Amino acid sequence: MKAWEKNVRTVVPYVPGEQPNQPGMIKLNTNENPYPPAPGVASALREMDAEALRLYPDPAASDLTGALAERYGLEEDQVFVGVGSDDVLAMAFMTFFHSGRPILFPDITYSFYDVWADLLRIPYECQPLDENFNIVKENYKKYNGGVIFPNPNAPTGIAQDLTDIEYIIQQNQDVVVIVDEAYIDFGGESAVSLIDKYDNLLVVQTFSKSRSMAGMRIGFAMGNKSLIKYLNDVKYSFNSYTMDRTALVLGVEAVKDEAYFQETTEKIIQTREWTKRELKKLGFHFADSCANFLFVTHEKYLARDLFEALKQKRIYVRYFNKPRIDNFLRITIGTGQEMQALVDFLKAYTAQ
Ligand SMILES: *Cc1c(COP(=O)(O)O)cnc(C)c1O
Repeated sequence: MKAWEKNVRTVVPYVPGEQPNQPGMIKLNTNENPYPPAPGVASALREMDAEALRLYPDPAASDLTGALAERYGLEEDQVFVGVGSDDVLAMAFMTFFHSGRPILFPDITYSFYDVWADLLRIPYECQPLDENFNIVKENYKKYNGGVIFPNPNAPTGIAQDLTDIEYIIQQNQDVVVIVDEAYIDFGGESAVSLIDKYDNLLVVQTFSKSRSMAGMRIGFAMGNKSLIKYLNDVKYSFNSYTMDRTALVLGVEAVKDEAYFQETTEKIIQTREWTKRELKKLGFHFADSCANFLFVTHEKYLARDLFEALKQKRIYVRYFNKPRIDNFLRITIGTGQEMQALVDFLKAYTAQ
């Protein structure tokens, strides 16, 4: 080990899903939306003036926070935006989980939480999901420095009732509770309705899934204005210009087109329900997902074998080699046609 290496902030990094790029592939491995962004996004992109790029963007991102505030019935100072919700969440960990007490999150959940905690030297304690992969709300009623969980949870797709979520918030009013709602637009009930009631609640959402803009990197948080101010203080101490000019313009276009948003999320929900019926017939078991993916296990075939067989056919799904979930596949809901191809392949495979 070199002397300088003793000064390095070491961390075991998060491993994002593969981003293969093969002709004819069916990409169901990173929960992207199969539909393009709202049509207004494409036209705004065409009209963008490269000349304006010599100027810094608006550090407050006011056009975007304003559009989001209007969409969710909030004041502008109740909204914070970042470079994808990963950026917003990392900023929130840094801002709110500073007590030195362990933060709590489920044992099976978004695998970035423990990475941020390790990076920022925040202690944490994982709380086991029950045997059906539900969050056990009583587990969050203990000494802690904050709480975070996704709703619906990832990678299970299971949504908790808002009453259970409110119970967790209520039991933890002396710390910040973050609800990561990356998939809320595909089902489940948002906790946004509770932010005026609980000043310790931060709700985080993203443009990456329901708004078809994973490639643009926009995420946002909603909460009491004092929480948002603390987040902004940290952001301005780190990088004042997180949102570039393109993201600000295109993000507003995506939020404005409510009809397109409703239409595409509804299509994905319909396709998800169709896929559930088909996979059930083929011997797959899964919890009732409220997200844009299914988390499935088969009564006869190993998940890892299915994963490899699908990959051979250029159908990419996600496999996590982790305790409790190493016999499951997470399958993103694509277009009807893509899901038909998946089901056709699995039909032939399980008929062998
Ligand atoms: C996809 C996802 C995110 C991050 O999405 P961004 O692309 O960074 O906005 C955050 N939390 C969960 C649970 C996710 O699945």
